[in-house]
Amino acid sequence: MQVVSENPTVLSAPLRHDWSRAEVRALLDLPFTELLHRAASVHRLHFDPAEVQVSTLLSVKTGGCPEDCAYCPQAQRYHTGVDATKLMSTEVVLEKAKAAKAAGASRFCMGAAWRSPADRDIPKVAAMIQGVKALGLETCATLGMLSGTQAQALREAGLDYYNHNLDTAPEFYNQIIHTREFQDRLDTLAHVRDAGMKTCCGGIVGMGESREQRAGLLQTLANLPAHPDSVPINRLVQVEGTPLAGTTELDPFEFVRTIATARLLMPQSMVRLSAGREAMSDELQALCFLAGANSIFYGEKLLTTGNPDTERDLALFARLGLRPMQVAVEAKAGTVHADIIEGSNQYGADAGGCGGNCTCAA
Ligand code: SF4
Repeated sequence: MQVVSENPTVLSAPLRHDWSRAEVRALLDLPFTELLHRAASVHRLHFDPAEVQVSTLLSVKTGGCPEDCAYCPQAQRYHTGVDATKLMSTEVVLEKAKAAKAAGASRFCMGAAWRSPADRDIPKVAAMIQGVKALGLETCATLGMLSGTQAQALREAGLDYYNHNLDTAPEFYNQIIHTREFQDRLDTLAHVRDAGMKTCCGGIVGMGESREQRAGLLQTLANLPAHPDSVPINRLVQVEGTPLAGTTELDPFEFVRTIATARLLMPQSMVRLSAGREAMSDELQALCFLAGANSIFYGEKLLTTGNPDTERDLALFARLGLRPMQVAVEAKAGTVHADIIEGSNQYGADAGGCGGNCTCAA
């Protein structure tokens, strides 16, 4: 079935938000090399394929989350050895932000592991956002579910981006999480968009879902009223003590297929390799870049689990002829785009609800 034409006119067609499940499934089912060829072609229409956005993720508040996300080592109910920490003070956050700026970051992302922030927490986070903004950095946060009023307050404080992932397909969601509904996720994303913020939203694969269910995740992401600006695709990191420890590993080619299909469905979004990258071979990462991934998390830790260390990433970039994306549109010219997430976020401490799981599955 010819789903995406190779005709450049069609490849550069307007963004779609009406993908059927059958269309998404047909893309995922394409012969592997054909799928990669199409994804790589679309990638080149919108991005320099030699550039990869580099984001840094730091955790300052982890563990103790009351939610039950089956993949997450920060859920209090699972015994994973992750200790809960308190939210950093604004002063410490700003010190970190200054250091990040000095290191070339243009964007600073703050995360707290809340199911949703209490209204009394909003002024504290707003102070952090205002402080980071005053340093000349873009701001990003992941705080769990937001009400419309909270989203508006964060926007007024200067928040540019909000991370909140869908995790998985609607029909598979209740096999992974029982303490909130899929619709809750969609509602928060709507509040974020309505407040005028940009979204970062993706999911996790390798949790035992079928290819059809991966199609369901991608279809839902692509059919959101606005494509997320960033689409983190996580590969489950199995953590001992969580219900998903021992899950049959996803075929790496299935992961690449997911990346390629995300690129085809959301051609102008940053498709981000997130959790699970540490366990990927250099060859697998190269295939992901070929398939249209153009963003990575960078640094030694991705919240509570490891991430390929900086030297390995630099060596891989050199071997592949890739370079860090210089700050694009919203960021300051001449600096490397970097998201710094301060706070536990995804793995949440006091209330769970990390905003998404770009890293929850790490
Ligand atoms: S921290 Fe996030 S991913 Fe982890 S259990 Fe809480 S809500 Fe779920």
